[in-house]
Amino acid sequence: MSGESNMCGIVGIYGNEDVFKDLHQGLLAIQHRGQDSAGIITYDGRFHTKKGNGLVQDIFTAEHALRLRGNIGLGHTRYPTVGGGRGEDAQPFLVNSPFGIMMAHNGNVINYAQLKKFLFDKHHRLLNSDNDVEAILNIFAQELAEQKTKALKPQAVIKAVEGVFQKVKGGYSVVAYIAEQGFVAFRDPYGIKPLVYGKREEGRSPSYAIASESVSLNIMNFADIKNVEAGQVLFIDRNRRIHTRKIAHCPHTPCLFEWVYFARPDSFIDNVNVYDCRVHLGSFLADEIKKQNLKIDVVVPVPDSARDAAIEIARKLNLKYREALVKNRYIGRTFIMPADQARKTSVRHKLNPITSELVGKNVLLVDDSIVRGNTSKAIIQLVRECGAKKVYFAAYSPPLRFPCVYGIDMQTKTEFVARGADPDQVAEKIGADKVIYQSLESLKKVVQLGNKKLEDFCGACFDGIYPTGDVTPEILEAIEKDRKAAQERQLELSIQ
Ligand code: SF4
Repeated sequence: MSGESNMCGIVGIYGNEDVFKDLHQGLLAIQHRGQDSAGIITYDGRFHTKKGNGLVQDIFTAEHALRLRGNIGLGHTRYPTVGGGRGEDAQPFLVNSPFGIMMAHNGNVINYAQLKKFLFDKHHRLLNSDNDVEAILNIFAQELAEQKTKALKPQAVIKAVEGVFQKVKGGYSVVAYIAEQGFVAFRDPYGIKPLVYGKREEGRSPSYAIASESVSLNIMNFADIKNVEAGQVLFIDRNRRIHTRKIAHCPHTPCLFEWVYFARPDSFIDNVNVYDCRVHLGSFLADEIKKQNLKIDVVVPVPDSARDAAIEIARKLNLKYREALVKNRYIGRTFIMPADQARKTSVRHKLNPITSELVGKNVLLVDDSIVRGNTSKAIIQLVRECGAKKVYFAAYSPPLRFPCVYGIDMQTKTEFVARGADPDQVAEKIGADKVIYQSLESLKKVVQLGNKKLEDFCGACFDGIYPTGDVTPEILEAIEKDRKAAQERQLELSIQ
């Protein structure tokens, strides 16, 4: 996949010294989860904020390292799933009352419009951005305010999160800090989005960190890493005592696409190593490719995510493996140029072929997935222009056919090339001699190899079964409308 979808990354630290440096490192480690905007808020008796559009390394400077003081902080890196990436939509968010609360999330709230109306009509709370974390934060704040207490007990926080679970529908992982009260993290009742926490022993009291991916905690030297479970709330009080409670008991259905594409290979998602998964996905896909009886001369990955699977495919089928497409990492992502022609040009700028490895060969291209098919089509054309005899295309995920409502901007349903098409029809549309997909059963089996306790998954973008069960045609339509509007804004930006 070449940057057609993405999500967000969160980091929070309850430390002993200034946490800005660690937060910055932690965010850099999960930059792949969103490159549109980033923000950090720290707390030292006051909240200190810096947010901006762009990459983590470009937004924060030495001046921010000096200004953002405090031993407590949250960081966020964002790809806009709701809203069009306006500055005021960058996270984390703050409310002043009760106590002062900062919050960041990863995911998508599917009843955002109703919540916005409910908060205004019932509680006179105005949501000032298009970011759904503002809805979660205001619901949480309202639940806390209604408890009318000056010093929060764990039970009060748990009750407030219960209120959030009752009212907020969708997939979301959340981290928050309530001033002078404690640190809070929770994962939606179905645990669709990942969330982990860890500990670092330091002097008298340990530091704690929470993040979307374990790699972030590794980089910041936090150990003893555990998952926040589906429907679980974690509260670290002002004496740094940890309180956890599982308050929702829905089936745990983590997002399958984390292991396919989103997460870094060196992360563990729900105790399953992402790299191992991708190698096994290659192995299972090799079995499918073998059944096709194709004459293949060389296996070529679409860089970077497909490399681990492609190496395994070549090894298992005893074929030559060549990195014949070289990626320029410094070119902007293709999605900022929605028009077809712009996309083609962008692929050409981003990937340069090594012609000698392709000329006269039957080439098997391997990618993680096929979304709209435009990028795959442009890559296939590029390989043909180098003189390849046949071009086969293998995706190590199943065909994508349904929009994601839980935080991944996967395009609108009419744009999926596999929607209403079998693999041969997809091959025709993208100009391949053959298209081979992973089956959904194999994908699930592969993840279960890493953690037998995972029984169920969200695979809604593959099979249209939304685990939260409350995805109505109206919700799908509203999301589609939002995405179209966002695409138009992107198109305007790319033309300017
Ligand atoms: S619909 Fe797809 S991308 Fe979205 S959460 Fe489910 S598996 Fe992940």
